[in-house]
Amino acid sequence: MSQHKRILVTGGAGFLGSHLCERLVDQGHDVICVDNFFTSQKTNVTHLLDRANFELIRHDITHPLYLEVDEVYNLACPAAPGHYQYNPIKTMKTSVMGSINLLGMAKRCRAKILQASTSEVYGDPEVHPQPESYRGSENTLGPRACYDEGKRAAETLFMDYHRANGVNVRIVRIFNTYGPRMHPFDGRVVSNFIRQALDGVDITVFGDGSQTRSFCYRDDLVEGIIRMMNGPDEFVGPVNIGNPGEFTILELAQKVIAMTGSKSKVVHKPLPADDPTQRQPDITLAREKLGWAPEVKLDEGLAKTIEWFKSVDFADFRAPTPNY
Ligand code: NAD
Ligand code: UDP
Ligand code: UDP
Repeated sequence: MSQHKRILVTGGAGFLGSHLCERLVDQGHDVICVDNFFTSQKTNVTHLLDRANFELIRHDITHPLYLEVDEVYNLACPAAPGHYQYNPIKTMKTSVMGSINLLGMAKRCRAKILQASTSEVYGDPEVHPQPESYRGSENTLGPRACYDEGKRAAETLFMDYHRANGVNVRIVRIFNTYGPRMHPFDGRVVSNFIRQALDGVDITVFGDGSQTRSFCYRDDLVEGIIRMMNGPDEFVGPVNIGNPGEFTILELAQKVIAMTGSKSKVVHKPLPADDPTQRQPDITLAREKLGWAPEVKLDEGLAKTIEWFKSVDFADFRAPTPNY
């Protein structure tokens, strides 16, 4: 095979997908971006449209799709709680039916396929930090289950297509990732806090803010998943990709206020159901197998993200769902 591959990125117009497309186009690959624009907009990839090795298709992955490709990165899925809970049945369909269609394509094309899984497969973890061997503490019935259980089912499908049909798969468990091109109205904590700080409105901390998250900068994350795709075929994963730097949500709020010089005040809102109390990736496996570790510290990544949020007009963004 030539070094230049035909690569499909589903969810390619999203926050992470658009950056991945950019990287792969710059490497000279033939990149097909498939997206239904549920939680993103075309402007994330319009700068790539005049590149001869980039192609954009509006398509919903719950429906079959026939393309000839060498690699598939499956990133299509709403990722922010407000987005994935808006139509929970559709979220589950996207993870399950979408994975089946793309695995069917990978099987037919003998393509390599990577699944963007999530730290949510660990649920509200009792083991800290979380290694890949931890099986998770999940509520199958709660409002987060459409996403968490959908992603868990997708992992199962990937392993079964691998074992039963010899499909060359990769599974990456992504921990909270942030950066430029996050949707300002996605309701995630980093985008909410920065938008609120820049608008000078109250910063909404859910609960007492003692719950923790570990935040990975976009570029580090994308480097990690590209390394996983290109890693040895014997290592199908799952592998955690995230930044072990762990912060309370209150610490994050104070950081954003300090870095933006905002006059915004912290207000407390009720903690959503099943909100995990702590989360930190154990990245030993990624270090050993992929030689990967994050390089961007939270302050540095936040500074870049704040600059990007300052550079855009929030009015240009369509809020995907009413519940941001
Ligand atoms: P995002 O919402 O910006 O991107 C998801 C993209 O998928 C959007 O462009 C959306 O329009 C598209 N999409 C959704 N449903 C689709 C469907 N049925 N058919 C076609 N396209 C569809 O979110 P993101 O943060 O870029 O997340 C990308 C992937 O990474 C997701 O699969 C998400 O679950 C996973 N992930 C992200 C994080 C994070 O912190 N950013 C953490 C864990 C996992
Ligand atoms: N599929 C697809 N694109 C392809 C190949 C398959 O969308 O290039 C879909 C196909 O419609 C099927 C699913 O993927 O529903 C699973 O394919 P598989 O070959 O595993 O199953 P089968 O066709 O035997 O049900
Ligand atoms: N959060 C918050 N205020 C907000 C948005 C989120 O305090 O405006 C909290 C949320 O309750 C959770 C954490 O920040 O504890 C991360 O939330 P996010 O939706 O970004 O991701 P996830 O919960 O899926 O990790």
